[in-house]
Amino acid sequence: MNEADRIKAALEEMASMAVPIEGPDDPNKVWVLCEICYEVIALTDLRILHLPLKAEMFTSPFPGRDVQPPWQPGIEYEFMLCPHCQHRFAVEEDRIRTQDGFYVVPETIQEGNDGKEEGIEVKGGKGTEGNGKKEKELKPAKGGKR
Ligand SMILES: [Zn+2]
Repeated sequence: MNEADRIKAALEEMASMAVPIEGPDDPNKVWVLCEICYEVIALTDLRILHLPLKAEMFTSPFPGRDVQPPWQPGIEYEFMLCPHCQHRFAVEEDRIRTQDGFYVVPETIQEGNDGKEEGIEVKGGKGTEGNGKKEKELKPAKGGKR
């Protein structure tokens, strides 16, 4: 129809062509890249990732595309080899490569990672200020002289 509708239709067509990928849309998840060959080999959830690394912490990098997880459950770090280059995917266990760069793997799951905020004192606003002053001296007008 008009220009705006044509643009909108074009944008919708582009969006429909994009392959939806689960994961990095979720801010808690990152792609795991092989440190040697840079292939994307898995997806991991930073909320559960901690040392020692275990296969169960890593899922298929592209779950929607019938791609299998890189390692069978039970596999430990020593045997977590990149499916592409067969090297250990992370040279050091406590550091993995993600799409955002290296991520240092914590030793334990961080507590309080579920969104709880520390108590923040909310101080009373301006309401209380100057209460005393409001009672302005309502001096009885001194009756003048009559
Ligand atoms: Zn590799």
